[in-house]
Amino acid sequence: MKDGYIKKFSVKELDAELFTPFTISSGSHRSLENAIFTVEAAGGVKGFGEAAIATHITGETRERTMKSLRRAGELLCGRDAADYLGAMCELEKLLDGNRAALAAAEMAVLDLACRLQGISLWKFFGGRTPRLKTDITVVIGNSAAAYDFTLKMRRRGFHIFKVKTGSDMDEDFRRLEAIKKAAPGCAVYLDANCAYGAKEAEKFIKDLGRRGIHPAVVEQPVPRDDMDGLAYLSKRLPMPVCADESAYSLDDVFRLIRKNAVTAVNIKLTKLGFLRAREVWSLARAKGLKLMMGEMVESELASAAAAQFAGGLGGFDFIDLDIPFFIKNSGMRGASFLSKDGVYSLDRVKAGIGVVPGGSR
Ligand SMILES: [Mg+2]
Repeated sequence: MKDGYIKKFSVKELDAELFTPFTISSGSHRSLENAIFTVEAAGGVKGFGEAAIATHITGETRERTMKSLRRAGELLCGRDAADYLGAMCELEKLLDGNRAALAAAEMAVLDLACRLQGISLWKFFGGRTPRLKTDITVVIGNSAAAYDFTLKMRRRGFHIFKVKTGSDMDEDFRRLEAIKKAAPGCAVYLDANCAYGAKEAEKFIKDLGRRGIHPAVVEQPVPRDDMDGLAYLSKRLPMPVCADESAYSLDDVFRLIRKNAVTAVNIKLTKLGFLRAREVWSLARAKGLKLMMGEMVESELASAAAAQFAGGLGGFDFIDLDIPFFIKNSGMRGASFLSKDGVYSLDRVKAGIGVVPGGSR
């Protein structure tokens, strides 16, 4: 197994333009500014990971993340990729304060371990659900933009629209009515990214109901630390109330469950890393919570890794892995298993994540 020993690594910037700024109530991404972490085994096989930098959400910067990844590379050099679990435990100790770096380093190690074994990441995680269809996000903007975008994406084959709300309530009503008109009969998810107070959120959802709009899930209506607000809404609203910003760690999810605060949780590898994400999945399933698989602003590489995590384990109710559709050209290759209408055909991935940065093999 000498060929499986990690002998070198690299850390590079990944920059790409977006078709439209990805604007949510707490901030905006104008372009993708991530980092790619590569590990190479002695036999020449490589593994790739992507760190998604979301400074306005997590406070993590690219400079710090790239520094963390260089430390991760030093830790990994000389280790056997077959001991991926040992490596991931060490990485977690080293990088717990920089989860974007942790997710990228774990992703690269798992990609490498799977490539060496000749199996996909989807199979590695259990191979349960071969196809996942993502929603598509309607970012914050005016109602005319929401209508045009929804119509375009509906014609392309999307039928679940995740609507970012929370910056202007009157405009949000107009936007949601426009979305309903552009995509009649389609499902709508709401994500307020912490924007409301609990009573305000309740009123907003009820007013939407009067307009004939009934979201299938309401994500993070209140601020991150407002457990009482989440619990209040979970009791009163008919649809699942999902924690995203409030579920940044396994401890967070444990607390949410103890307080009966939510009925769904959004798992993102960038918040939790792979090891803890797997534990959150188990805990949430054991407690009967619904599950969303989400992501930050991530290219086809990290999006495909997240899809394979979700499809491999199975049991996810909401799939929110649509960022590849917002990126002009990430330079990633191999993502043909993701169709133009948002379906990840995971059983078509041959080895590892199946996506590689341009210029890599
Ligand atoms: Mg969210």
